Amino acid sequence: MTAIERPDRAPRSDEQARPKPRLATVSLAGCFGCHMSLLDLDERLFVLFERVDFDRSPLTDLKHCGPCDIGLIEGGLCNAENVLVLREFRARCKLLVAVGACAITGGLPAQRNALDIGRILTDVYQQRPGLGAGSQVPNDPELPLPLAHVHPIHEVVRIDHFLPGCPPSADAIWAFLTALLDGREPQLGHGLIHYD
Ligand code: SF4
Repeated sequence: MTAIERPDRAPRSDEQARPKPRLATVSLAGCFGCHMSLLDLDERLFVLFERVDFDRSPLTDLKHCGPCDIGLIEGGLCNAENVLVLREFRARCKLLVAVGACAITGGLPAQRNALDIGRILTDVYQQRPGLGAGSQVPNDPELPLPLAHVHPIHEVVRIDHFLPGCPPSADAIWAFLTALLDGREPQLGHGLIHYD
């Protein structure tokens, strides 16, 4: 695992004007619960805003990620757009963090992996009771193509850190982020690491 480099000497005056580290976050095939946990930082968000500039994130509503120091990824890969966004994050972020069970293992969305995706779509959109006559599977070109299976993100790009939990608690996210920003290896002890 890697951490943000920290000079082991007092910063020179010209270095003090250095831009803050940039942080980006995104939700792929997830439920936004991991982002809600980030928001559960509550007043600590103000401290975080002092220490980082936010890039692409639901908090900023930016749609593309610029060069960043840390990218937090919630959710796995269930469609082609998820893969494009993940690759963009990998290309732009120095450190990529898989946050939560869905990013790390596929999580709940991967429950569909035992089923055939074509069968799921026709069952839901064409054969379910109560549908109107002529109901079709949506096929607008703007809709991202679903993948046959849901994948964890480490199957597609290199991941630097894994932060487990469904979701990881705000305290775990705080301990993890502050360690990275302090230039330390994140070491989450008892009570902060959990897998459910
Ligand atoms: Fe939601 Fe849990 Fe997946 Fe996070 S890990 S996106 S909380 S289901």
